[in-house]
Amino acid sequence: MSNSNNLILVLNCGSSSVKFSVIDPKTEKDVLSGLAEKLNLQDASVTFKFDGHKETRFLTTNDHTGALESILEKLKALGLFEKVTAIGHRLVHGGEAFKASVEINDEVLKTVEACSNLAPLHNPANILGVRAAQKAFPSLKNVGVFDTSFHQTMPEHAYLYAVPMKLYRENHVRRYGFHGTSYRFVAKEAAKMLNKDENNFALVVAHLGNGASVASILNGKCMDTSMGLTPLEGLVMGTRSGDIDPGLFSYLNQELKMDISAINNLLNKESGLLGLSELSNDCREVEEAAENGNRNAQLALEVFAYRLAKYIAGYVVPLGRLDALVFTGGIGENSASMRARVINHLSFLGLKLDENANNETCRGKAGVITSSTAPLALVVNTNEELMIAQDTVSVLNIAI
Ligand code: AMP
Repeated sequence: MSNSNNLILVLNCGSSSVKFSVIDPKTEKDVLSGLAEKLNLQDASVTFKFDGHKETRFLTTNDHTGALESILEKLKALGLFEKVTAIGHRLVHGGEAFKASVEINDEVLKTVEACSNLAPLHNPANILGVRAAQKAFPSLKNVGVFDTSFHQTMPEHAYLYAVPMKLYRENHVRRYGFHGTSYRFVAKEAAKMLNKDENNFALVVAHLGNGASVASILNGKCMDTSMGLTPLEGLVMGTRSGDIDPGLFSYLNQELKMDISAINNLLNKESGLLGLSELSNDCREVEEAAENGNRNAQLALEVFAYRLAKYIAGYVVPLGRLDALVFTGGIGENSASMRARVINHLSFLGLKLDENANNETCRGKAGVITSSTAPLALVVNTNEELMIAQDTVSVLNIAI
């Protein structure tokens, strides 16, 4: 267990789950982590991981407050409660109101609530989580860290859609981008790993998990990113289509008589790797099937890699040069074959794969995977929870 007296509780609250970690910002390690899931259902449970142990129990009160109370009890039982000095929350959508992380007060919560129409699945759950944390830990301060805030430096020509301006002026319709906390962490780590000054560094980062996006980052600032008003825009993902012809909406409606919610479901939950492979949204499973000769699985991976390579090349435009291409997220950190496909598409940029380094850089390893001297491609392990803990420390000026 940690000797530090300044631990940060990091919460990521969804509508039916609370993912949590207690992080020592000094050692940058988790001392406790876990997941409360199936909230509001009879068999809601919480799993704790600490010191190599894992234990699961059912929740007596099955909502967000019950989950937070059970985390509180566990902290007390482990003698950690007195050491937790603040709580950092992942908040998904801050609209144009939040350009950085902030201490949460009533005003902030009202503004996050007002952004709920932009993230109807996420923001209400995030707010529930903050309220439950305030109730269970009344003496602790709360900090909000937004997925969107890192992208607020995008210039107008990158974030505007070419639709009537009135929609932006009156309804805030524009590109926002997501995964910002991961991008911020990964850009700093990449600069550290390569011994570069992050204020003189041009990189494209590909965050490839079940949700996937790329960002163009110049001197620590986001210039463009592939997700838009919602996380549906851009790359092929696990179950999301990414870019499609917007005319597909009326085609599906008129020809197949699908309503908006069925179309939304099709594009968000039934498309991407899952839709193309007709097998799975899990890249590992699709890769295994492709190796065994499944043509749809092979096609799914090719479409994924080709779209990604086109995006990466396009995202060099806002940089004017490319110092490094960075892979992160479950697929980016682990799939050597996906990285190889993408880098092979991009050889015209001067990227040359080091096959041994690429094959060895998986399962928690990080490092350069190209033999070219410039630009470089590298793998960085993202850690959004640590970034949230670090922001919480800096927003509240906590001495560690
Ligand atoms: P994330 O959302 O960041 O947890 O990433 C989840 C994605 O990473 C899933 O598509 C997984 O199949 C993929 N992934 C994890 N490990 C591997 C691996 N060894 N090879 C290929 N894909 C992987």
